[in-house]
Amino acid sequence: MNIDLHAQVALVTGASRGIGAAIAKVLGSSGAHVIVNYRQHQVGAHEVAESVIASGGSAEILGFDVTDEQVVGSCIHDIVQRHGKIDILVNNAGISKDALLLRLKPETLGEMLDVNLKGAFFCAFHAARSMIKQRRGRIVTISSIVGLGGNAGQSAYSATKAGLIGMTKSFAKELAPRGVLVNAVAPGLIDTEMTRSLDQDALRKAIPLSRIGSPEDVAGVVLFLCSELSSYITGQVLVVDGGLYV
Ligand code: NAP
Repeated sequence: MNIDLHAQVALVTGASRGIGAAIAKVLGSSGAHVIVNYRQHQVGAHEVAESVIASGGSAEILGFDVTDEQVVGSCIHDIVQRHGKIDILVNNAGISKDALLLRLKPETLGEMLDVNLKGAFFCAFHAARSMIKQRRGRIVTISSIVGLGGNAGQSAYSATKAGLIGMTKSFAKELAPRGVLVNAVAPGLIDTEMTRSLDQDALRKAIPLSRIGSPEDVAGVVLFLCSELSSYITGQVLVVDGGLYV
């Protein structure tokens, strides 16, 4: 079965680089009209949209900060006005600021809660309105294996990523009767700007598949969750980590 997302409108948050960029490209090359969200990195978002268009797809860029609920609401309203609907939301925007518990600043915790958890909540809240109306939609949220298993030095980040799993499971139960499927993906160590400062050689040794993941490894699973191939899956967390967390 081929994956065909033609005539579907997809919003990918934080798609100016890394995992979000790979997700936007794979959804675009499968036929969806992709809205490439960014916060600061407009040039990167533009390159992602250009790459979708160059591969025969359709894309646009849309800058907004997921932490601003009113702006999120008006941007999603504008998407629905212009395209008539929103079929797919990928909550990918995220930040990570590591600190051991006793060195964690309250403002760092607040910042991560705002972007990673509340930002995803705001986007889902506003996109769900259109999905419920058309009784069809997919919401995929990028969590992390540290949201499942925790990690020293990442208590705040892990809390936000665990929160996303609770959000996903609750939305899935609430929205299933309306035809909206809601799932999460939990990547392990993926090669992006977020992880480049880590000692990747040491970490690679702990991964059973002996390699760091690529953004495309995650994007393929998101595509599956946005496609008809996963039409009986909701409320799940798919781990994409080369066997690191078992
Ligand atoms: P990244 O390379 O640092 O990219 C982060 C993206 O999020 C950028 O496009 C950035 O946009 C956007 N962003 C940040 N704050 C935003 C905000 N307030 N509003 C809108 N966009 C915002 O990170 P990544 O590694 O690709 O991570 C993507 C997602 O996967 C995150 O949720 C992360 O927690 C999760 N994840 C990553 C890994 C990993 O190993 N890399 C593992 C597990 C989970 P601008 O650049 O335009 O500001």
